Amino acid sequence: MAVKKLSILGSTGSIGTQTLQVVNNLPDKFSVVALAAGGSNIELIKKQVETYKPKLVAISDKDAACELNRQLDNHETEVVAGVEGLIAAATISEVDIVVAAISGVAGLLPTYQAIKAGKDIALANKETLVAAGELVLSEVKKKNVKLLPIDSEHSAIFQCLEQDNLNAVKSIILTASGGAFRDYSADELANVIPEQALKHPNWNMGKKITVDSASLMNKGLEVIEAHWLFSIDYQDIEVVIHPQSVIHSMVRYSDGSILAHLGVPDMRVAIQYALTWPKRCKSQVKQLDFVKLGEITFKEPRWDDFPCLKLAYEAGKAGGNIPAALNGANEAAVEQFLAGYIKFNDIPKLIAKVMESCSFMNKPTLEEIIYTDGFARKKVQEIVSAGKV
Ligand code: NAD
Ligand code: MG
Repeated sequence: MAVKKLSILGSTGSIGTQTLQVVNNLPDKFSVVALAAGGSNIELIKKQVETYKPKLVAISDKDAACELNRQLDNHETEVVAGVEGLIAAATISEVDIVVAAISGVAGLLPTYQAIKAGKDIALANKETLVAAGELVLSEVKKKNVKLLPIDSEHSAIFQCLEQDNLNAVKSIILTASGGAFRDYSADELANVIPEQALKHPNWNMGKKITVDSASLMNKGLEVIEAHWLFSIDYQDIEVVIHPQSVIHSMVRYSDGSILAHLGVPDMRVAIQYALTWPKRCKSQVKQLDFVKLGEITFKEPRWDDFPCLKLAYEAGKAGGNIPAALNGANEAAVEQFLAGYIKFNDIPKLIAKVMESCSFMNKPTLEEIIYTDGFARKKVQEIVSAGKV
C-alpha cells in the first residue's frame, strides 16, 4: 500500500486523537498533511503540529489561530483560520483521504468541499449525512469518491454487506448500548443532570455525542446515516439495545442468515479499517475474549421514554430539509441542556416543536440546509427564552 496522505478534521477530539494513534500504529502507511480543530485546545493542537509537522493546520476560531501561530516555532506548517481555513485543510491538493471528525453540523461544509475536490472521505461526522444526505451522496457519485464509514455500526454493516447479495438484504440491525440512562426509570429520567448524561457506560466520546447516546438521538441520527450510506428504506432499519456493545451491528438476509461484526468496543478498529480498506492490518486493539465476556444480551428500545429515536425516524421518512431541522434543533437543545437551562426530557419536546414549525423544502440546496439549521437553532433559543418548552 502506498503511503496515504491524510487530512484530519477535528484532530483534537475523541475520534481525531484516536486517528492519530492509528497513524502511530502504522507509521509507514500514513502521513499527516493537514490538521484542523475548533481552537478550544491550543496546547494539544500545538503538540500535534510539532509531532506530525503537517503542511497546514486550520483553526476555526480566529483568535485561537493567531495564538497558535504566535506559539509555533515550526515554520514548516502554515496556520489558517475560520471556515475558509477548514475548507483549505479539507481540499489541500496532496491529500488522498479526509477524516471527517468535527462534531456537529460544523463538519458539513468542509466535508462537502472535500468531496467536491475529489477526496475520499473517512466519515465520523454523521451530522453531515443527517443534514445533507441526498446532496452529499449525489456529489459522492458525481466525483466517484469513496465514502468509508467510521461510525462503528456503519463500519460493521459495511463489512457485513455482501456486494453479490445486496438484493437478498432483508434489513439492517443497528445495535445501541442504550447510553448512560438505559437502566433509569421514566421518573428518574425527569431529573437527570448533565454530569450523569456525560457518563457513558462503554465509550469515551465528545460531549455532544455522549448526550445523544443517553437520549437515543445518536441511534436516531445513525438510522438516517445508514439510510443514506446503504440506500436502505427506513422500514428496513431495525434498532436493538445491546448493552455490552460487542456486536457492532448486523445485516439480516432473506435466507434467514444474519451476519454480525464483533469485537471489543474500541473506535480504533473502525477508524483503521476505514483508512486501510480494503485491507486489514494489525492493530493495537485488544482481542475479544468470549469466555471473559460470558454473555451478550438484547432488549427492545424504550420508545416512549426516549422519544428522540422515533423523532429521527419521522424526520428521515419526511425527508427534504426536515432531518436538517431535527439535527439543528438537537444540537441547540443539547447545548441548552449542558448549560443547565432545560431538563433532559425537554430535548425531544423542543425538537418536535421545531419539526412542526419548519416549512418543508424538497431536495434542499446546501444554502437551504444551512438556512434550516439556523432556523432550528433560533427557534430552540426563542422557545427556551420565552419559557415555553
Ligand atoms: P469531540 O467533541 O471529542 O471532538 C470534536 C472535534 O471537532 C475537536 O477537534 C474540535 O476542536 C472540533 N470542532 C468542534 N467544533 C468545530 C468547529 N466549529 N470548527 C472546527 N472544528 C471543530 O467529538 P468526537 O466524539 O470526536 O466526535 C466527532 C464526530 O464523530 C461527531 O460527529 C460524532 O458524532 C462522530 N462519532 C464519534 C464517535 C466517538 O467514539 N467519539 C463515534 C462515532 C461517531
Ligand atoms: Mg455509532
